[in-house]
Amino acid sequence: MQPATDGVATHALTTHAMATIGGETMGTTWSVKVVVSKHADLHALHAGIQGRLDQVVQQMSTWRSDSDIARYNQSMAGSWIRIPAEFFSVLACALGIAADTDGAFDPTIGPLVGLWGFGADARPQAPADAVDLVDVQAGIGWRRIELDSESHSVRQPGGMHLDLSAIAKGFGVDHVVAYLRESGIASALVEVGGELYGYGHKPDGSAWRVLVEAAPDTDDAGGEPRVLVLDGNAVATSGDRWHHYDVPGDDGNGRRYSHTIDPHSGQPVACALSTVTVVASDAMHADAWATALTVLGMDAGMQIAQRNGLAVRFLGIDADGPCERMSDAFRAHLHA
Ligand code: AMP
Ligand code: MG
Repeated sequence: MQPATDGVATHALTTHAMATIGGETMGTTWSVKVVVSKHADLHALHAGIQGRLDQVVQQMSTWRSDSDIARYNQSMAGSWIRIPAEFFSVLACALGIAADTDGAFDPTIGPLVGLWGFGADARPQAPADAVDLVDVQAGIGWRRIELDSESHSVRQPGGMHLDLSAIAKGFGVDHVVAYLRESGIASALVEVGGELYGYGHKPDGSAWRVLVEAAPDTDDAGGEPRVLVLDGNAVATSGDRWHHYDVPGDDGNGRRYSHTIDPHSGQPVACALSTVTVVASDAMHADAWATALTVLGMDAGMQIAQRNGLAVRFLGIDADGPCERMSDAFRAHLHA
């Protein structure tokens, strides 16, 4: 997903203009478009944004051995670990979505992600032994995580490895948006690794607009392009376009392994299935739901979306070629 290029207008008001700044975080990139006074200190703004994202990494990255999440993952069975407020609220949100999806989304998925060769100790290969899979699967489970909201503590039942990769990028977007609002920025489009939040208006007075992918797993713009209006809301996309690996099978036909794993089967979600786009009032929920709905698949996912009023679009391939399904709430966000 990318900001609509026709949105990068040069109709600057006399006092304000649009500026774009960016950097790296969470193994991906970030970019922020802001509408600021021509005298604004963009270096200070850049440092402030990077600082917020570094804070998310320091708390929630399983790629760092000194992060708060790594400290939790290494802690002794039965201990209560006090964690920072941001980490606590992301974990609470993740557990809520785990409950809403009957565990299709599961923040304790870490060991399964590792077993399939994704995550911090990446080694692209399928598990060598089916026994490993059963053992690892038995050790995960969001229901075993207990929170104490008074002390912002989380209990380690023993061997539990949290993985917030499916939700932390979205939270990073929200965290940056909060910083920009606190800094008096009246309009911005914030992106971390493809997850976006837009608020306010561009110098020409129009709202932020973004393009979403037209056709699954292809650069061919066969489908109708979709333009979303972001005006105080977020959009996230989950799919396997960039995150998968192929392993040649004995029969010569390869199998593609996705980095999104179904906790119930212990298996990666079949690739080509779909790209899911979710619009929500914050990027943390949009990001988590996009992953959850990828696990649930188009039929079960659309049912949950309609029931909960979620704004969701599935893009997949069926026997007749590319197919697209949108919930009613998603249609409401489309640019006419
Ligand atoms: P995303 O790109 O937001 O869909 O997040 C994908 C990442 O989330 C993976 O690389 C895993 O670390 C993690 N993950 C995979 N499957 C699940 C799942 N069922 N529930 C929660 N997190 C998951
Ligand atoms: Mg996600």
